[in-house]
Amino acid sequence: TLSNSLAAADIAHTLHPNTNLRLHEKNGPLVIARGDGIHVYDDRGKEYIEGLAGLWSVGVGFSEKRLADVAYKQMLKLPYYHTFSSKGHEPSIRLAEKLAEMTPEPLTRAFFTSSGSEANDTIVKMVWYMNNALGRPKKKKFLSRIKGYHGITIAAGSLTGLPVNHKDFDLPAIPVHHLTCPHFYRFGTEGESEADFTARLLAELEAVILSEGADTIAALIGEPLIAAGGVLPPPVGYWEGVERICRANDILLVADEVICGFGRLGTPFGCQKYGFTPDIMTLSKQITSSYMPLAAIMLSEPIYQVIADNSEKLGIFGHGFTASGHPVATAVALENLAIMEERDLFGNAARLEGVFQAGLRSFADHPLVGEARGTGLIGAVELVADKPTRRPFAKVGRAGQIASAIGHEEGLIFRAIGDQLALCPPMIITEDEVGELMARMDRTLERLTGAVAA
Ligand code: PLP
Repeated sequence: TLSNSLAAADIAHTLHPNTNLRLHEKNGPLVIARGDGIHVYDDRGKEYIEGLAGLWSVGVGFSEKRLADVAYKQMLKLPYYHTFSSKGHEPSIRLAEKLAEMTPEPLTRAFFTSSGSEANDTIVKMVWYMNNALGRPKKKKFLSRIKGYHGITIAAGSLTGLPVNHKDFDLPAIPVHHLTCPHFYRFGTEGESEADFTARLLAELEAVILSEGADTIAALIGEPLIAAGGVLPPPVGYWEGVERICRANDILLVADEVICGFGRLGTPFGCQKYGFTPDIMTLSKQITSSYMPLAAIMLSEPIYQVIADNSEKLGIFGHGFTASGHPVATAVALENLAIMEERDLFGNAARLEGVFQAGLRSFADHPLVGEARGTGLIGAVELVADKPTRRPFAKVGRAGQIASAIGHEEGLIFRAIGDQLALCPPMIITEDEVGELMARMDRTLERLTGAVAA
């Protein structure tokens, strides 16, 4: 059959990203053939709720014809042009204007790349270029957090704080210091309150700045809510404190909103949920609902002014991509954002936050669930071997993998991050569909108990 020949060809010729390849050769691929709303269908016709919106990214769902139409029309009119050397085209200009209008006040300027990783690499270079221009070339170091995810290229992968993205690649390759992960359930100590935990993290930040020297630290980058590291909402008061300390030490604050942006947390941008204002913002994924690859860096006006001054005096900012501001990608982004606005999808996430989070929290009673957590339309359940002591499974990821396989049988795709099961459904989801998603998750967890013991 077609399905068998596809599977064989895949096994013979593809090196899948982020995959246990020997296991893949044994089990074969899950080939997704088409999409409809919050659902995808495999090549045998089986239906799944895409509980992670692809990779946290397909906001408008899997069958938005308007995005296909816009891409088609743009391809006929101007399929490609670049944005180097003052050249431009309408979709990228309009998108820059639109993003400047949507994002928090100090952010006025957009630089486009095709992926979140490229965007964060670009930010590192922009900040270095800026500090060189300001005559402080020593101010190069980045602060990041353990379990933060900022991509996988050499610089972005260095900012990422996950061992799997470092250990076989000699990373970090740029000066970066990873701070304690702000996840109370795992990193809080015995008897410590959440407020004490926040105070300890902020004291650590101050101590690191003192020991390394504020004159060596360029910026702190963080996801408002750490997503790919396990969906880890920060403790109360964390971001306000981080912002205060960064401002006091002339350290730029970079919000990586690749997942948290565009309404996911129930506010337009994640930084607004936690009450801080970044100097730089990374956007991607839901910017086009991932119908086309695109990312944007948003910069505050003062940063732009330094770069602009320097580009005349000392030499241009020698950085850019063939696809920076690609007309089809930026046209699709504009239409995607228009759809999100017309259908009030940011509002939908805010309205459904209550049922979605209540559904998740209902799993907290399950014997294998240590913590059920999240905010807005994103969340996770963390599986543990022993609930009272929070002891993880000896072989991390096995329970998660079993859960994924059962989930597939139940018609639900989520992401197992080790033994943390992450949910981040398309933003078009309805209340009934949230109910159905949670019912499938419930059946998955019911069956998991026996399967993990076996
Ligand atoms: N930053 C964050 C917060 C992300 O979640 C991701 C991807 O998941 C990235 C950056 C990297 O984006 P990309 O995979 O497009 O390079």
